[in-house]
Amino acid sequence: MTDNKNFDVIIVGGSYAGLSAAMSLGRALRSVLIIDSGLPCNRQTPHSHNFITQDGEKPIVIAEKAKKQVLKYDTVKFLTDLAVNGTKTDKGFEITTQSGKIFSAKKLIFATGLKDKMLNIKGFSECWGITVLHCPYCHGYEVRNQKTGIFANGYGAFHLARLIRNWTKDLTIFTNGKSELTKEQTDEIKRHNISIVEKEVTSLKHKDGVVEEIIFADNSTFKLEVIYSRPPFEQHCKIPELLGCELTEQGLIKVDALQKTTVDNIFACGDNTNPLRSVPYAVSAGSIAGVAINNAMTEEEFLK
Ligand SMILES: Cc1cc2nc3c(=O)[nH]c(=O)nc-3n(C[C@H](O)[C@H](O)[C@H](O)COP(=O)(O)OP(=O)(O)OC[C@H]3O[C@@H](n4cnc5c(N)ncnc54)[C@H](O)[C@@H]3O)c2cc1C
Repeated sequence: MTDNKNFDVIIVGGSYAGLSAAMSLGRALRSVLIIDSGLPCNRQTPHSHNFITQDGEKPIVIAEKAKKQVLKYDTVKFLTDLAVNGTKTDKGFEITTQSGKIFSAKKLIFATGLKDKMLNIKGFSECWGITVLHCPYCHGYEVRNQKTGIFANGYGAFHLARLIRNWTKDLTIFTNGKSELTKEQTDEIKRHNISIVEKEVTSLKHKDGVVEEIIFADNSTFKLEVIYSRPPFEQHCKIPELLGCELTEQGLIKVDALQKTTVDNIFACGDNTNPLRSVPYAVSAGSIAGVAINNAMTEEEFLK
């Protein structure tokens, strides 16, 4: 770290989106502080896919490699800490960390990701990212043609069934209670030989996250190999809201095409702004945010 307390830009969140933004800014000779608490959303998944040059790599290896490349630039500093508060000042912003440090910057980037809220089903969180999957583009190829379940109800279940059918035809929807699918959706699903099970799910029997069977409230069981689920999420960091950044109906930070939030001089990028959750998307959005901030700063400086 450094004794410097004042930066051009503070980036809260130093995973894929934050490191990518830091790369653009550091190379543009901006002084940058990254503050990161070390809890990326994909930390439990053994391998990351669908990002060219890094396909099949461990998530932490991709992040560590990125961090090493970014920290080669002496313009960029990295602090492992949790940002707990943010305030607006005359010159920009102040960010306070859990360890009691205070830093200031002209502009902020939040690359803080999302927190997935695990379903209240025993074994669900242990299997998350291993055999309970959020995205077929990330992991569908590896589990193609396997005996697969979908934990969802209503339109979400219909949408997932239609999508996942591309990777496997052995599909069952578990609505965990009464089905909320419409008659038309149910007819379509049945036409494709996808069953719907409405029983209440109590737990997943698994070995080290590898699911073996679903256990229902009536003690009956269902053997399968993989489950897709899109659990609810929340913003990992509440500081953007505290500073007045608007959220969308989905609970994502509202940004324009250059990743600018609804508050001047605050940008956001990565999962916290977009439902297309993926490492390549986060890297791309981070790069756009970094370039957009540098462009804004060069313009401001030129006009002075
Ligand atoms: C189980 C799972 C598996 C996945 N598999 C794949 C895959 O195979 N391929 C793929 O492309 N994508 C995959 N994804 C999606 C991918 O992981 C995300 O899109 C990506 O991690 C988003 O990057 P990000 O930088 O926006 O957020 P994250 O990677 O979630 O990082 C956010 C960072 O911000 C930090 N942070 C948050 N709040 C604060 C704070 N207040 N102070 C300091 N730091 C803070 C966190 O600790 C974290 O390090 C997967 C996601 C999940 C959940």
